[in-house]
Amino acid sequence: HDIAELKRLDLAHHLPAQTDYKLQQTLGGSRIITRADGVYIHDGEGHQILDGMAGLWCVNVGYGRQELAQAAYDQMLELPYYNTFFKTASPPPIRLAAKIAEKMGGHLTHVFFNSSGSEANDTVFRLARHYWKLKGQPQRTVFISRWNAYHGSTVAGVSLGGMKYMHEQGDLPIPGVEHVMQPYSFNEGFGEDPAAFCARAVKAIEDRIVAVGPENVAAFIGEPVQGAGGVIIPPDGYWPAVEALCRKYGILLVCDEVICGYGRLGQWFGHQHYGIKPDMIAMAKGLSSGYLPISAVGVADFIVDELKDKGGDFVHGFTYSGHPTCCAVALKNIEIMEREGLVERTRQDTGPYLAKALATLNDLPLVGETRSLGLIGAVEIVREKGTNLRFLDKEGEAGPVVRDICIRNGLMVRAIRDSLVCCPPLIITHAEIDALVAILRKSLIEAEPVLRA
Ligand code: PLP
Repeated sequence: HDIAELKRLDLAHHLPAQTDYKLQQTLGGSRIITRADGVYIHDGEGHQILDGMAGLWCVNVGYGRQELAQAAYDQMLELPYYNTFFKTASPPPIRLAAKIAEKMGGHLTHVFFNSSGSEANDTVFRLARHYWKLKGQPQRTVFISRWNAYHGSTVAGVSLGGMKYMHEQGDLPIPGVEHVMQPYSFNEGFGEDPAAFCARAVKAIEDRIVAVGPENVAAFIGEPVQGAGGVIIPPDGYWPAVEALCRKYGILLVCDEVICGYGRLGQWFGHQHYGIKPDMIAMAKGLSSGYLPISAVGVADFIVDELKDKGGDFVHGFTYSGHPTCCAVALKNIEIMEREGLVERTRQDTGPYLAKALATLNDLPLVGETRSLGLIGAVEIVREKGTNLRFLDKEGEAGPVVRDICIRNGLMVRAIRDSLVCCPPLIITHAEIDALVAILRKSLIEAEPVLRA
């Protein structure tokens, strides 16, 4: 590849996701990633970089899977595309729906396909409100979500999400979304007894339900572990208590499994780790390991029954709902995950190994906390050891400074405010986890004088 030419064209014509055009110009164009294999990505300038983010929390089976390419190739030759609008469907979406239903288990029996995580949450938004209308409770329109939640970039996604800086662009949220405290103990509950903090976070939800009027609430939505908000792992007991609240007030419980689904927390779905039973779940990313765009919404039997009983109408769908090629690749991806036991391996082996490896960073002066669950984790960077005082409070965010050093040292991680997060492919080995943590250590040590200067 002619990298200089690509960078010139990038600046001239390309607005990448999370556009920061000024930064893109300062950098002289985007970093060009040209190929990848296993857990490594390669840029056009000869650097091999350990992908600690599995792309964007999605390449669960790792890069370079011939079988996924073959599945797409075979399906494209047989039937590349057909829609599901005309009471038609091709074999792959039907088989994939059945496979996902098997993995969800319990009362989540049906699946609605879309292309992205954002669209999945739009589907949830409309379907939940539609359900309550069919039930004769049309006033149940309010969604309760958490600050710092990420549910996507569409109008419903940003509205359901709790990123204030995203709300500012596009004049959002739309009416009918209420945001409450997130269970972020390092921030909101530092030094507090975990059980007391948990009770406080749950009470914040109940207080809001009561303030809005339970009869007006359609659903509570949350990521089992908040990803883009900073890998916020809730205290034990949080999710069962939230589930109990939803049952108490007759509110639908929705889990956004876009990151947590497909093995990330050591179960097929994140809610299974917490032993709760949501009424709808959104999934994307790991469903196809990011090889092709596909998302889905898992729907409980009683919601489907309501559709059946009341005429069956849900006027909703996308050109690419149930896309045969995307579904064929997702099916093959799940087959690979099953065959290689990636979910069990994450739960029993690599997840605990990552937790231990990250914990070795705790001797560093900059590290305030390390936390992880399965193969998703975070390192909190603090200005003063033993406190949760950040660089963010004074000099600006520390995360991006350390992240840039990590990338230079051969590790792709993401900075979220004053923390670094990682979410490597589920195929990662012990040796690769050691390499990941060694680069984090080296980079945190190199960053300290820069941050304190
Ligand atoms: N929900 C969660 C929890 C996510 O992390 C994301 C993306 O990162 C989305 C929804 C949106 O998915 P997409 O970018 O595919 O629209």
